[in-house]
Amino acid sequence: MSSRLTISIIYGTPTIKGWFMLNFLGIGNSFSTKHLNTSAYFIENHIFYLIDCGENVFGEINKLRPYKECNKVIVLLTHFHSDHIGSLGTFVFSLSNYGFSKNNIILFNPNKKKLKQVVALFGLFEDCIITNDLNLLKKQFKCIKQKHYNDNSYGYLFKQKDELIYFSGDTSEIPDKIVDLFNAGEISKLYIDTTLQDSWGYHLPISKLKTVLNMRYADRVYCMHLPDELTYEEIKAYGFNVANSINRNKENENARN
Ligand SMILES: [Zn+2]
Ligand SMILES: [Zn+2]
Repeated sequence: MSSRLTISIIYGTPTIKGWFMLNFLGIGNSFSTKHLNTSAYFIENHIFYLIDCGENVFGEINKLRPYKECNKVIVLLTHFHSDHIGSLGTFVFSLSNYGFSKNNIILFNPNKKKLKQVVALFGLFEDCIITNDLNLLKKQFKCIKQKHYNDNSYGYLFKQKDELIYFSGDTSEIPDKIVDLFNAGEISKLYIDTTLQDSWGYHLPISKLKTVLNMRYADRVYCMHLPDELTYEEIKAYGFNVANSINRNKENENARN
């Protein structure tokens, strides 16, 4: 049995192919009590890529330590709300226990000045590289600015195998470029911030997705950053998917309580 297959059985990732895809540690919004913070990882060329690291993400990563066979950790941050960076400091500190030195831990956000401030508050200056240089990511990512609350949030567009993936982070709109790519059938998986209703304009109501996206490709939409009030049934009724959390069993259990 290959080690990959072993891993997929132990950690419950759906298929061997699934190991290379985005593995969600949580799919909830900042106030959710049913879901964990939205965060996802994948491994490519022995590099552990993590997108966002909210308050309860370190606990989930630490149970699996999926970076054990990796020689570099790269964390892409969408923005600086605590449900996206809350356990970043603990995560980075913990990596020194597993042989990662400063040069092998990279934190990325286009707003390097703000990222530096966060890293300083966490006391991490000696422990990682802080960058807004896409060339340091060892893989091609396009970073796309979005509107969210009182700050910008950044979505990430990248390829896995031959599939084009977009991970939105928090946003109140889908950038035109992403809408165009999706509606032309170019995007294989659209992981998108989805809420039920949003009178403040911070997140994307599910009803709005239907008006913007070409519903011919509805099965390529994966909803994430969910509020407790938005049920899986409602998401499926639109023809969309729920992002596949590796903690789904636990999340389902919470959802029933
Ligand atoms: Zn959030
Ligand atoms: Zn946010």
